[in-house]
Amino acid sequence: MKYFLAVSVLISACFSVQAQEKMKPEDTEVWTPVPKTVTVDGEKMIPSDAIVLFDGSSLDAWISSKDKKSAAPWTIEDGFFTVKPGSGGIETEQQFEDYQLHVEWRSPLVIKGEGQGRGNSGIFMQGLYEVQVLDTYNNKTYVNGQAASIYKQHIPLVSAVKEPGEWHRYDIIWTAPRFNEDGSVKEKARVTVLHNGVLVQNNVEVKGTTEYIGMPKYEAHGAGPIALQDHGDLVSFRNIWIRPL
Ligand code: MG
Repeated sequence: MKYFLAVSVLISACFSVQAQEKMKPEDTEVWTPVPKTVTVDGEKMIPSDAIVLFDGSSLDAWISSKDKKSAAPWTIEDGFFTVKPGSGGIETEQQFEDYQLHVEWRSPLVIKGEGQGRGNSGIFMQGLYEVQVLDTYNNKTYVNGQAASIYKQHIPLVSAVKEPGEWHRYDIIWTAPRFNEDGSVKEKARVTVLHNGVLVQNNVEVKGTTEYIGMPKYEAHGAGPIALQDHGDLVSFRNIWIRPL
């Protein structure tokens, strides 16, 4: 039996080598579909197929998270906008599922508070799942709550934090959760984050909605907005674009 098995493995190996040798290079060439061309031009490096969510001058793509209809009440300055503490979060009017998102942010220029109280904001995928924005430059806090953490779920692989006053870049690749018809989770969400070009979250599985107290959980939902958090700190944002996938 052993001998028979060894011989048959040898024979099939010979056949696959022969089959490989008989193949031509073009047998494994695929010519369609042809990927569409996307160009990346200009100083801001915005892909030509991206939806620009903030172009430096207008918050027209955004609404107040409080009533989901009135204009975003945050302060627009020269090429960027800043949280207006106490006014509540803002979110995109448009809803998204899977995407590549680019956001630039800056910690408050005046350093005040400590831990989670220093330069806190956040970017919520589908309005529910937070990629943390925090001034963690010389500021100790729980590591699953530092900048670029998936808040209270995933610690960033490294800290790519910069000094207050410098602009940070987040590039976020988001795969939305999928739900069964009965509302149960079919596939959990997944996220990859590059912080200033450095990989900090590598296709991690999101455990559920972001919870300040208690465990994350899933409840069936469809597309949702990109939401920005008002945590009472003067965090600024600029150059925000998204490529739905
Ligand atoms: Mg936050």
